[in-house]
Amino acid sequence: MEHGIFYNMVRVTVHPERICANWRLLDERGGNGCAVIKSDAYGHGIEVVGRALRAAGARNMAVGTVEEGAVLLDALAAPGEGGGGGADGADAQDVRVISLLGPQCAEDHAEAVARSMVCFVGRDEQLKALSAEGLRQGRPALAAIKFDTGMSRLGYAPDEAARVAGVLDGLPGVRAVLAASHLAVADEDGGEEFVRVQAERFGAAVGALRAAGHPVEATLANTAALLAYPWTRLDMQRPGIGLYGPNPLAGTDLARLGEGLLPAMDVRAPVLQVHDVRAGETVSYGRTFRAERDMRVAVLGAGYADCYGRALSGRAQVVVRGVRAPVLGRVCMQMCVADVSDAPGAAAGDDAWLLGGPDAAAVTPEELAGWWGTITYETFCLLGLNRREYAEA
Ligand SMILES: *Cc1c(COP(=O)(O)O)cnc(C)c1O
Repeated sequence: MEHGIFYNMVRVTVHPERICANWRLLDERGGNGCAVIKSDAYGHGIEVVGRALRAAGARNMAVGTVEEGAVLLDALAAPGEGGGGGADGADAQDVRVISLLGPQCAEDHAEAVARSMVCFVGRDEQLKALSAEGLRQGRPALAAIKFDTGMSRLGYAPDEAARVAGVLDGLPGVRAVLAASHLAVADEDGGEEFVRVQAERFGAAVGALRAAGHPVEATLANTAALLAYPWTRLDMQRPGIGLYGPNPLAGTDLARLGEGLLPAMDVRAPVLQVHDVRAGETVSYGRTFRAERDMRVAVLGAGYADCYGRALSGRAQVVVRGVRAPVLGRVCMQMCVADVSDAPGAAAGDDAWLLGGPDAAAVTPEELAGWWGTITYETFCLLGLNRREYAEA
């Protein structure tokens, strides 16, 4: 599948075996997981990550759009490279694919039913369209009833559960197999109280659906919740970010509960030129950095057009020759400048690690996100748009 940014020099290395190790660790802690690999596996590449996770035993995978679910199923069915081998795709169906955004157009409903995806739904029109498609294709459409328990995004209100059960009773082509909700503050200090509120609202909704004759499995916990709040673990958990290495509880009182996960993405750019900057000279647009002493700087082939955000100007660090090198002045479109005064011998052609790296000095996802003023999720989604390669185990 084509993806991302072409004609640049930034290279992303993804380590599928670390994602699988994280899967196993999270599975031990929470059990019954559904691997969340939406948005191209948080920028790590849904096809390779999906195949690796299946080999590691994952049997439920959550994508964003129905279209993304189709890409995943094709990858799981493809011969070679850990694919199922069956050209008919039959082997792919040992994995249940769940679309978190659900069907949003006629093609989505048809595709989801044809490929036995489980679709998150939060409005009656979706249930009706799925049922019609299920009857047309002669196979049941599978729905996950999404309840909005506190995000004010997609989903039914919890007190609609009994009414939804009635709607389902009148729709023979669709079967509700899951009930789901999503937590707003499971990864924040002081979040426990609202996690409890959401869990109670969800419990009531699930109870009402089941009492009305719809024996749904229930799923609530994201990575942070399954680690921090064992009582949110229901029939299935939905870890996402933890698969890619970050501890979602980092910086909170419960941080130790999320230790041991391995970052799975490294990002590097080449050093294009190294030169001296004399005291008093300035670096890059706007002259926001002025050298207080003579220094040696490296010009790197990475800029905001490569999704190395301009917000990193004067804040980020990279690793050159095993040494941290601060980014000086503004990040440009395809270049930025780093201080390599402490990395003697730095030269054109060296790798500069923007994220991760082979050394003890490796940049962590949490650090990069902090400098950037964002969360690790966004750094992965953006940097993952660059050309990716996959490390062997
Ligand atoms: C993204 C997502 C998850 C995974 O959350 P993490 O914080 O990445 O573990 C789980 N459920 C839903 C509905 C999501 O959209």
